[in-house]
Amino acid sequence: TETRENLTYEKFGGAVRELAQIVADDGYEPDVVLSIARGGVFVAGGLAYALDCKNIHLVNVEFYTGVGTTLAMPVMLAPVPNAIDFSNKKVLIADDVADTGKTLKLVYDFCVDHVAEVRSAVIYEKAQSLVKCEYVWKRTDDWINFPWSVEPPVVRRGGQVLDA
Ligand code: 5GP
Repeated sequence: TETRENLTYEKFGGAVRELAQIVADDGYEPDVVLSIARGGVFVAGGLAYALDCKNIHLVNVEFYTGVGTTLAMPVMLAPVPNAIDFSNKKVLIADDVADTGKTLKLVYDFCVDHVAEVRSAVIYEKAQSLVKCEYVWKRTDDWINFPWSVEPPVVRRGGQVLDA
């Protein structure tokens, strides 16, 4: 049976603080935290507060369609961030996990020509990742259950009341 890494919201709170501490200890002071939606949005919010960085951007990337099943390549969805927003800025890319690393590489390569400096922070990094992030909270090769995606979307309750 396959093992899972279970991240709860409670554990996530400590993890994102510790990840920010690793960034701060390294002396990196980002001007912008660039989150990879949707999972990276949670990470970016925590990092931006902990690092006292008031500027958050996001980019939407679509890659995974299920547990371990992906599209052929990750794609950036519109609207793609304007590179002008990042010129001469120190950027910290934030995501939940670097698995194959293809998603991070797409965003990293988008940034690298346009910004003063770009580094990446993730909660988890898997050994196979083709991008080695500067800042990693924990290494695992298990499938991770994240608290924001472990449950299916909510469904509307009590719709029959309006129809009555
Ligand atoms: P990559 O491009 O590095 O293979 O995957 C990046 C994205 O895929 C992550 O931001 C996340 O949304 C999803 N993903 C990859 N591995 C996992 C995993 O172990 N668990 C979950 N829940 N999502 C994952």
